[in-house]
Amino acid sequence: MGKRSADKKGIKLSVIISAVVFLSIAITYALNTVVGYETQKRSLSNNTLELNQITANELSRTTQTIVLSMKETMKTAADYFSVPRNRLEDVQGQLDFLRNSVPYFNSVVLVDNTGLVVSTSPETLSLVGQKLKSDQAQQALKLRKPLISAPYQAITKRLIVLVSYPIFGKDGTYVGFIGGSIYLQEPNVFQKVLGEQSRNKNGSYYYVVDASGNLIYHPDLTRVGERPTSNPVVQEIIAGKGGQMQVTNTKGIRYLAGYSIVPAVGWGIVSQTPLANVSTSVSEIAARMAVISIPILILILLIVVWLSHRLALPLNRLAHVASVFNRGEAVTVQIPQAKHWTYEANELYKAVSEAFRMMGTRADELTDQAHTDPLTGLANRRFLDTVVAHWVEQKTPFAIVMLDLDRFKSINDTFGHQQGDEVLRFLAERIRGEKRDIDYGCRYGGEEFTLLLPYADKEIAFLIAERIRLRMAEEDSPIGRPVTLSLGISSYPHDANDAASLFKQADDALYEAKETGRNRTVVYRPDRRQRD
Ligand code: GH3
Ligand code: MG
Ligand code: MG
Repeated sequence: MGKRSADKKGIKLSVIISAVVFLSIAITYALNTVVGYETQKRSLSNNTLELNQITANELSRTTQTIVLSMKETMKTAADYFSVPRNRLEDVQGQLDFLRNSVPYFNSVVLVDNTGLVVSTSPETLSLVGQKLKSDQAQQALKLRKPLISAPYQAITKRLIVLVSYPIFGKDGTYVGFIGGSIYLQEPNVFQKVLGEQSRNKNGSYYYVVDASGNLIYHPDLTRVGERPTSNPVVQEIIAGKGGQMQVTNTKGIRYLAGYSIVPAVGWGIVSQTPLANVSTSVSEIAARMAVISIPILILILLIVVWLSHRLALPLNRLAHVASVFNRGEAVTVQIPQAKHWTYEANELYKAVSEAFRMMGTRADELTDQAHTDPLTGLANRRFLDTVVAHWVEQKTPFAIVMLDLDRFKSINDTFGHQQGDEVLRFLAERIRGEKRDIDYGCRYGGEEFTLLLPYADKEIAFLIAERIRLRMAEEDSPIGRPVTLSLGISSYPHDANDAASLFKQADDALYEAKETGRNRTVVYRPDRRQRD
């Protein structure tokens, strides 16, 4: 078994077909997945960028409206205070009204032209009577025009943006300003507009920077007041440009950002989504696709294996036949006759069976030739030896008759060798005519013949031998007269246990026939005188 499998060189065709088809499917699938993943990711990235830009634009429009509305509100208030109000309750009431009627300011202050706080809302601010010393307050006093400050730390230690409006008296004298504060690190107008964003499911969020890049709104309150100018988006906003880009923030996280400028104040509103979240959702899609495709792939693989097996089957069968033939286990080979799917397989089968058929015929011819005596057409000595050996081995009982023409040498001498051959043929004909169908007539050599009679005892052999002898003695041979012959008979296993003894005994009997006058048949008898 081990030797046989060791003899099997080469890979099976069905395995190769399956492997090639499966590999191509697997590679196509892998390429599709990779390309699909990249395409999906790019398109999702672009969509996200676009969406963030749209969001930023929307928020910027809203913020613009609010900023303009803030200014308008402050202007109205400034107009109100242009007429001197002596009653403090009126002033306080007006400031409270202002702070509560619009949702913009966390607090409102009224400041005189020296920077002294006249009144505040809420009243509890306890600033009244103090002088505002911040640069932003000083600037408002100095410039005497509407301002929106950068974020700064106010006297209350809060980080604020101050929206101020100058107050002029009826005669045009500068009276001071009214200021609204937005507390950047507390609930404020931005949260109302941008929503209290605990970050979105996909991690998106917004932030706002002022015209010089200070963070004035960020979901992470601790970051408010920072100035992340290394961030390319912030740089773009400082340059006054809106747009979209993939950006790595100061913390090394990559974002897809859309940003837009609020024209009235130059602030930038940024809406951004972490790139990792986009990749994750694409990976999820790819994984889902894989889960859907794997059963299909397995099904395809099974079909491929089955199909390649079916395609390779005819070749497999031929290969098996050929290997049996090669090992010499069969002399003649039967090619199984079957219709196959493919034109090639059918043609191959036709060709191979024709080749084997011709080989078979040729082998039969060669076998016949190897076993036949060309002159007489009887079996030859080689065949005779084979048959006898086989019968002895099988313990098949049989008798042999040895035949030898009398004085044949003189016939040759008188009539020539050719005529002698004709006499040999004549005898062969008589042997064929008298033997039973199951007997073999053989030319043993020269003018000696042998007859093999399976299952015959010496009596039957004698009868047949005598029929041949008598015919030869009576019929005119090709030389114009009868030619006689002498015959010796022996039997297996009655007389001998092996082929050599059997032949020797028959030969002895034949010798005795010659000795005792020729034209005779002698049956071997053990008690007879033995020839040395
Ligand atoms: P006997 O057997 O009666 O003793 O006498 P014989 O003359 O037949 O003697 P033997 O059997 O010894 O002679 C054999 C002769 O047969 C010798 C040879 O000339 C002849 N012979 C042998 N083979 C052939 C052959 O193939 N063709 C012909 N024409 N003659 C052959
Ligand atoms: Mg002889
Ligand atoms: Mg002779």
